Amino acid sequence: MVAVSKPRGTRDFTPDEMERRRIVEKKMRQVFESYGYREIATPTMEHMELFTMKSGEGIIDETYSFHDKSGRMLALRPELTAPTMRFYMEKMRMNPKPLKVYYFGNCFRYDRPQKGRYREFWQMGCELIGTDKPEAIAELIATAYHVLKGTGLKDIKLRVGDLELLRSFIKKVGVESPEIMRLIDKSDYEGIEEIIGGREGADEFMEFLNCGDFNSLKKFFDEKDVERIGSVFEWLSAFDVPYALDTSIARGLDYYKGIVFEIDAPLLGAEKQLCGGGEYSLLPVLGGNDTPTSGFALGFDRIILALEKEGYEFPSSPEIVYVHPIGDEMRKEAVSLVTELRGKGIKVEMDLMRRSMQKSLQYADRIGARTAVIIGPDEWARGMVILKDMKTGEQKEVKREEISKFL
Ligand code: AMP
Repeated sequence: MVAVSKPRGTRDFTPDEMERRRIVEKKMRQVFESYGYREIATPTMEHMELFTMKSGEGIIDETYSFHDKSGRMLALRPELTAPTMRFYMEKMRMNPKPLKVYYFGNCFRYDRPQKGRYREFWQMGCELIGTDKPEAIAELIATAYHVLKGTGLKDIKLRVGDLELLRSFIKKVGVESPEIMRLIDKSDYEGIEEIIGGREGADEFMEFLNCGDFNSLKKFFDEKDVERIGSVFEWLSAFDVPYALDTSIARGLDYYKGIVFEIDAPLLGAEKQLCGGGEYSLLPVLGGNDTPTSGFALGFDRIILALEKEGYEFPSSPEIVYVHPIGDEMRKEAVSLVTELRGKGIKVEMDLMRRSMQKSLQYADRIGARTAVIIGPDEWARGMVILKDMKTGEQKEVKREEISKFL
C-alpha cells in the first residue's frame, strides 16, 4: 500500500479512461465550435470574493478556500460562470455582441462524495453575452442539447422553466423566503407545503409546480406573462429540440432570472442532472452594466458515466506499432526507424528493456500492438526489415524505405 492516498472525492484516471474522456471532450468541443463559441481559459483559483459576491457567504463552506502567503483569501473555483464574467469585465467588454465563449475545466466543491458527485470534477460550459432574444435563448438551449447528443448519448431529457412565473407566483402566495426556492430546487414538496400550507392560493401553487404543459400555464397567468416562454418553445421546435415544461426549476441562486433549464440522464438515478443553465444577471453584482447574459454548465464526469451506463462503445484508438531490434548493434538503427515513423504521425514504441525477441513480442501483444517491425542485421544489410502481423502471426520481409506503406 502507498503511504499517501489521494484526497477524498478526487480521482486518478488511467490511460484508458483518459482516452475515453478525450474522445468525448473532442466531440463536445466540435459542437460548441459549430455554434460559433470560442474557447477561453481562466485561473484555477480566484479571489474568494468573486464567489461570495455571486453566491453569498454561504458558499465559503462549500468551497476549497485558503489564505495565501500574503494573507489573501483565495478559492479553487467551484464553477466557471463567475470567473468568465470577471474576465469579460476585465478584457472582453468591448468585443462584438453577441459574444459566445466556452470553457472546459476542473472545479472544486466541498460536496459529499458519491457516484457522480466528486470534490474535483470537470465542467464544460458556455456563456452567451449581449442578447436576450427568444431565439438566442433557444439557440443556447439547443447548443446544450446538441452537445450532449453529439457525445452519442441516447436518453436525455430537457426541462425548461421560467423564473419570472415562479417568482411572481411565490409573491402571490405571500412568501418571501429564499428557503422556498431552495426547497423547490430540491423538489422537497413536504418542505414547501410546510411553508405555504394554509395560505390563500397554496393549492393552486402546488398545482402550478406540477403543471407539465404550456397550455395549462394559461390557467394561472395572463397571456402576456407566458408569451416569452411560449416564444422560446416555438424557437426550440425550430431548432428541432424536444423539450418539456418544468415550472419547478428554481436553480437555487438569486442571480438567475427568466428562462432556466436542466437536462437529465434518467439512467443515472440520484445524480442524473447533466446540465443546468439559463438567463442570469451577474454583471451588475460585479459592478458592470446589466448586459443580457445566459449560459449553462455540463457535468463532464456524469456524461461519461451516462455513456458507460448506456453501453456506448467507445472507438478504440489506433493501435501502436512495435519495433524490436535483434541484437545490440541494431538498436541505433531502430532509433532512426522509429524517429522517421513518428515524424509521419505513426504511433511507435521500440524495445527499451533490451528484451529477448520472445519477451519483447509478448510485451507488444499486451500493449495491443497490431504490427511488429523486427530489425535483424542480415535483413538490414539488404535494406529490408521483417513485418509481423500480431493478430495472425504472419511475417514478411519489406523494403525499409517502403515500410510506412504497410503500417
Ligand atoms: P451547477 O454549476 O451546480 O449548475 O452544475 C452544473 C453541472 O455540473 C451539474 O448539472 C452536474 O452535472 C455537474 N456537477 C455539479 N456538481 C458536481 C459534483 N460535485 N461532481 C460532479 N459533477 C457535478
